[in-house]
Amino acid sequence: MDATFHCALAWLGGERPEADVLVEVTGDRFAAITRGVPAPPAAVRFRGLTLPGFANAHSHAFHRALRGRTHAGRGSFWNWREQMYSVAGGLDPDTYLALARATYAEMALAGITCVGEFHYLHHAPDGRPYADPAAMGAALCAAAADAGVRLTLIDACYLHGGIGGARPEGPQRRFTDGSAEAWVTRAAARDHLASATVRLGVAAHSVRAVDPEAIRIVGQYAHGEGLPLHAHVSEQPAENAACVEEYGRTPTELLAELDVVDAAFTAVHATHLTDADIAVLGESGCTACFCPTTERDLADGIGPAARLAAAGVRLALGTDSHAVVDMFEEARALELHERLETQMRGHFTAEQLLAAATAAGHRALGWPDAGRIEVGALADLVVVDLASVRTAGTDPAAIAFTATAADVREVVCGGRHVVTAGTHMSIDVPAELASAIAAVMP
Ligand SMILES: [Zn+2]
Repeated sequence: MDATFHCALAWLGGERPEADVLVEVTGDRFAAITRGVPAPPAAVRFRGLTLPGFANAHSHAFHRALRGRTHAGRGSFWNWREQMYSVAGGLDPDTYLALARATYAEMALAGITCVGEFHYLHHAPDGRPYADPAAMGAALCAAAADAGVRLTLIDACYLHGGIGGARPEGPQRRFTDGSAEAWVTRAAARDHLASATVRLGVAAHSVRAVDPEAIRIVGQYAHGEGLPLHAHVSEQPAENAACVEEYGRTPTELLAELDVVDAAFTAVHATHLTDADIAVLGESGCTACFCPTTERDLADGIGPAARLAAAGVRLALGTDSHAVVDMFEEARALELHERLETQMRGHFTAEQLLAAATAAGHRALGWPDAGRIEVGALADLVVVDLASVRTAGTDPAAIAFTATAADVREVVCGGRHVVTAGTHMSIDVPAELASAIAAVMP
């Protein structure tokens, strides 16, 4: 597949977009990028502002079914978790494929060309493996292929119902392999799911769900295979308190002691950290994946984004529970939440916010060859309307502060056109979301 695109404006890194950028694609990669040239007759012409593809570094696809059903009224993260479990209980490989396909297609419409699926819904409702132990992961891979986006399948080890080794109960039985060794066996038997558009990653779900010895085993497996390793870290103060009580250490200190905190590690949320935690994460060169719209929806709190960045932690972004699927909103929330917290402005530049939504997320997902418009990188392009009611008259360099997902008009993933004129090329996304969600809601 070869193609030529001419971008009226394109962000190639740096403070400001460049004008009249000709982008030539060979196969699924950028072959040439030329600034300041008129459009040749054969080129596909992109008006507006062209950005690299967005990486959604933290997703639980099935949580999309909860949007609009759990936000009102009182309640906490822990109430929300009960509702989430009831949806999880109703999924099988077919209904999961339908729901994930519609959810990933919604992401494509928002300019997301790569999603990291933090996958722990492994087994049948009674906790037994499916005939194909990788059936649920395979459904996610098929969903991403149908939606036209790339996927990192982050297989999460999940063994316990809480710190101290509580047995998984009810829907949690679907999540557990019983032991870290059994998790390794299953994780090692899914290599056939990797492809040109799917890469593999692993996770220790959290210090709540994985005991220290099992975390060490997951880390050793990740290092041996050269896979990115993710974990939920300090999303809730209660998690920290239980961890300190049981182990005498914060979750970050415990994970570091178990040799899993390094440049291939991503701490998801990283909301409630001590100064020492921030120093440990900074020294490791790891990534912190903030999920600001989920964190605000679940009343988690505001994580120390600026302090982490200053310490040397790379920041990536995820839509997590999909209360909102809009990478512009996630990106600007890094800065805007920090303003609320400090009553000061100017913590991140627009360029840094775009980098979090693009290159940093791809790197955290094991795609260091994506998220930038440069020769040799995977050919992902997102064209944003500069003439909508939100963006008209604004400075294109400030797009992270003005646009929404609704302003994404064209999306190219690996040289292939996935979204055109704001419409998915092969999926009726609202209709499929409605039917897939109706099929799984209890
Ligand atoms: Zn999560």
